[in-house]
Amino acid sequence: MLDHLAYTSPKPKVIAGAKYDWELVIGLEIHAQIASKAKLFSGASTKFGAEPNSNVSFVDAAMPGMLPVINEFCVEQAVRTGLGLKAEINLFSAFDRKNYFYPDLPQGYQISQLYHPIVGEGEVIVEMGPGVARKVRIERLHLEQDAGKSIHDMDPNMSFVDLNRTGVALMEIVSKPDIRGPEEAAAYVTKMRQLLRYLGTCDGNMQNGNMRADVNVSVCRQGQHEKFMETGDFSHLGTRCELKNMNSMRFIQLAIDFEARRQIAILEDGGEIKQETRLYDVEKNETRSMRSKEEAHDYRYFPCPDLLPLEIEQEWVDDIAKTIPELPDEKNARFVKEFGLSEYDAGVLTAEAENAAFFEKVANGNDGKLAANWVINELFGRLKKDDKTIRDCPVTPEQLGGVIALITKGDISGKIAKDLFEIVYTEGGVPAEIVEARGMKQVTDTGAIEAAVIKVMADNPSQVEKARQNPKLAGWFVGQVMKATGGKANPKAVNEIIAAKLAE
Ligand code: ADP
Ligand code: MG
Repeated sequence: MLDHLAYTSPKPKVIAGAKYDWELVIGLEIHAQIASKAKLFSGASTKFGAEPNSNVSFVDAAMPGMLPVINEFCVEQAVRTGLGLKAEINLFSAFDRKNYFYPDLPQGYQISQLYHPIVGEGEVIVEMGPGVARKVRIERLHLEQDAGKSIHDMDPNMSFVDLNRTGVALMEIVSKPDIRGPEEAAAYVTKMRQLLRYLGTCDGNMQNGNMRADVNVSVCRQGQHEKFMETGDFSHLGTRCELKNMNSMRFIQLAIDFEARRQIAILEDGGEIKQETRLYDVEKNETRSMRSKEEAHDYRYFPCPDLLPLEIEQEWVDDIAKTIPELPDEKNARFVKEFGLSEYDAGVLTAEAENAAFFEKVANGNDGKLAANWVINELFGRLKKDDKTIRDCPVTPEQLGGVIALITKGDISGKIAKDLFEIVYTEGGVPAEIVEARGMKQVTDTGAIEAAVIKVMADNPSQVEKARQNPKLAGWFVGQVMKATGGKANPKAVNEIIAAKLAE
């Protein structure tokens, strides 16, 4: 495994206040919309926010006689994602029809991959804090079509349907039941979103529903999950309920917590958990039954006769592998090693690929830790204040690197550097030139500093007496001298000269 992740596994979450110690078991099915301009089996656009029913081809509307044609770009994105998940890529996969009726599904079935998914088992490392991480195993990733959208709140007597989303390509990423608490579930979704964004296969926009999760929750008595891990036998686990379509990290956590308590209350009361699909009500903070859980056979899955099995070549997979960028775990490890950063700082900088790239340019030729400090505290802080991101950042990495280089050279103090940064941020310009033009250079001329020290001492003879008795009071002189020099005196030189003068 990655060397920086000499991690320990977090303890499973135990729900407090119950009669027995119950552990949580969670497995997620993440639906990630592929960042593709066209749909999975038609050329219709996937643009978000278009006029209702304007991005609908005859295939999407399921007109009789229309045939689906696979979008190669979408297949490539599924392979990319599989490689990012360090998963097995299946050179042979096939599409199946999942039959059900819903007004937003004009075909009367969804084309999915049940029996032969394109991606098999993989894994994701989920960091839970410095040195604490969990490995979540991935069961599979398959391609499928999204459904449209029914709209019930526009008219008291009618429902409407918008088919723009119908047929859009989704990757369903199914985890094993390895997740052990609400925070871990949120951290897993966060990590998956980061990974997809690094790979560029999904934009991770949860608000628009481009990434959403079905969260499966069960509870078991302590030690049962361990037995499941040893044997792979699901009968050691409790019955699960599935919370549908969650698209907020906060609500995922609240919903899991509520659902676990609900199940524990039933079990401690001698009842049984019914396997079912439930909905989380944001307003009431509770989960409600939607329908009893359907089994695969309820859907009458069968191989889609309109599509040939998908056969891809290892060479093509290898070519795709060559285009995979450095991923978060590797980048994180490298930042710790190459720049001497803490795990935490490396994590902040690598959260988004753009931020990491910006930092690397700032650090080029500068001290890595100093550069990280400036990017995280000053730059990110300033951007946040303006509600900006690195993409609309008014400062280039070269400009910020220039400010830092001036500190390292001793031309400016850290305090002046902050003023300089603000000037560069609001007015632009080359840092070194601004320092020259505006006389911001640090005074390292010891003669000038000495003169300032002598003057301050002459003006405050009683302070000099006190400081000679109590050397701790020398700091007062440092402040006075800095004030007299407009903050430009080299602090090290000031300290030395004051100490020398007081010792005379
Ligand atoms: P379905 O389509 O019926 O929901 P999937 O195989 O697609 O079935 O997904 C099942 C999900 O439920 C997986 O993420 C799996 O890890 C999870 N899961 C299975 N059993 C349990 C359990 N006892 N407790 C919690 N999660 C579970
Ligand atoms: Mg499911």
